[in-house]
Amino acid sequence: MYELKVEDAFAAAHNLRGYEGQCEALHGHNWKVEVVVRADRLDDVGLAVDFKELKEATQAVLDELDHVYLNDLPAFKDENPSSELIARYIFEEIARRVEREGLWVHRVTAWESDKACASYLRD
Ligand SMILES: [Zn+2]
Repeated sequence: MYELKVEDAFAAAHNLRGYEGQCEALHGHNWKVEVVVRADRLDDVGLAVDFKELKEATQAVLDELDHVYLNDLPAFKDENPSSELIARYIFEEIARRVEREGLWVHRVTAWESDKACASYLRD
């Protein structure tokens, strides 16, 4: 099995509805995002997936989150844009773009600060 990782970042605002504490108020984060894919095969060139493709897919998904109020997005209309659910959203969006036979997204981690992150993963 092969594993590849790319990192990217976005800045956005959110608030957590129903949370009792400071995060209920509007505030922002600079999220750092790690995307890990796994593959059970390589192409003729020896690549699981071209890093360029993986970076572009990640960037395309994060562009939709960058500098927006996340609670306004359809994906977070009913669920809070917590780091957990942001990680799941990014996971599913990247999976939709890059997954193919023998290549799948394994884990997406969203760091909301230098010290705290949440991941969504699938084996
Ligand atoms: Zn927050």
